[in-house]
Amino acid sequence: MKDYRIDLPHDAMPDKWYNIAPDLPRPLAPPLHPGTGEPIGPDDLAPIFPMGLIMQEMSSDRWIEIPDEVIDAYRRYRPSPLYRAYRLEQALDTPAHVYYKYEGVSPAGSHKPNTALAQAYYNKQEGVKRLTTETGAGQWGSALAWACSIFDMELTVYMVRVSYDAKPGRRITGQVWGADFIPSPSDVTEFGRSILAQDPDTPGSLGIAISEALEDCVQRDDSRYSLGSVLNHVMIHQSIIGLEAKQQMEIAGEYPDVVIGCVGGGSNFAGLAFPFAADKLAGTTNPRLVGVEPTACPTLTRAPYRYDFGDTNGMTPMLFMYTLGHTFMPAPLHAGGLRYHGVAPEVALLVDTGVIEAAALNQVECFDAAVTFARSEGWIPAPESAHAVRQVIIEAEKAKEAGEERVILFNLSGHGLLDLSGYEAYFAGQLVDYSLPQENIDKALGDLPPIKE
Ligand SMILES: *Cc1c(COP(=O)(O)O)cnc(C)c1O
Repeated sequence: MKDYRIDLPHDAMPDKWYNIAPDLPRPLAPPLHPGTGEPIGPDDLAPIFPMGLIMQEMSSDRWIEIPDEVIDAYRRYRPSPLYRAYRLEQALDTPAHVYYKYEGVSPAGSHKPNTALAQAYYNKQEGVKRLTTETGAGQWGSALAWACSIFDMELTVYMVRVSYDAKPGRRITGQVWGADFIPSPSDVTEFGRSILAQDPDTPGSLGIAISEALEDCVQRDDSRYSLGSVLNHVMIHQSIIGLEAKQQMEIAGEYPDVVIGCVGGGSNFAGLAFPFAADKLAGTTNPRLVGVEPTACPTLTRAPYRYDFGDTNGMTPMLFMYTLGHTFMPAPLHAGGLRYHGVAPEVALLVDTGVIEAAALNQVECFDAAVTFARSEGWIPAPESAHAVRQVIIEAEKAKEAGEERVILFNLSGHGLLDLSGYEAYFAGQLVDYSLPQENIDKALGDLPPIKE
């Protein structure tokens, strides 16, 4: 009998998260204050994050205990399954062994609740009653909405106006879980009103929505702000993916030659890959770790490594990362979660030091791969996850050429059941294969303040 699915017993779910910070080849450059350009300390972040999360952000402890309440909440959908993709291997006629960790089993349909639950918990612990956040297509807003319903907290989500109207699916799921969704720009904040005064018909942007969520949060003592990717504490929470996968691969009697994930802010890739990177950094194994991004937003493959703001308007601390420039406006890809100008500083450092490889793929070939995958494995990948799937097929074909039985592991970060319009456009032959002229990158980089060495 074939083991299509490798499950961990509930009591084998990890009770600690892994923090890669102490194992990095060199220390991270500190985040800088947006106004003074000086390194920031914990107190600078206290108006927007609870101290529990700030301490994790700056922690150099390798292992961080998962609180019982978070373990309890994780148990609703974790441990998540690991699958062996026998039918995909057959379809590709490859000697490679392909495995995938499936994070689409959470109520929100992606890996994002792994950090949303932890963030809601630490805020609640410190007496915070209400969170604010922004969302583009709604993945993060809906995941945090579910987490806030679990911990009885209020949530206000500023959702980019075009998506609020055109992509109602995730907004409605978040509203079912009790969150308040406001189309951004709104007349609720001063910043939103100033944008609307200039242009009442503006489609909005993620940068505007971040500014509104931050303004709302600092106005009220009972509120804090929450971010779904990029920051160190998010990478820590997502490590549960790779820690589980390592145990499951051991049950399967294999160890990956290649680990693959799609990269937006970097959290689902880091979640799967960092526990394997730990082995690689310790010199015990040497897997290839491959982060995959869209050619339309090629942060890891074409952007410079330097300080930049995390948001479009230059309000957040500056992070040392690969960046296309905070004013960079990516094409309207179906993989909305991969349209970010920067990337997690920890992922950036590991790319810079050669521990992680990066690849860029166009969305047409990714939907091709996603359809091949769905027809062999059943699950319909999110357009973001489709980037990982395409890279897996490339690696499986290389294994075939080499005649080698390579072991490939990837993260299927979410399902695509709320992204069917992307598949519809694919079948209609209407998907755009966006190319990105160098001048667009140069222009956004030209808007950056000079680098202070
Ligand atoms: C948000 C999202 C991503 C991209 O975010 P990362 O922080 O890079 O993981 C990828 N896949 C899915 C399904 C998402 O919802």
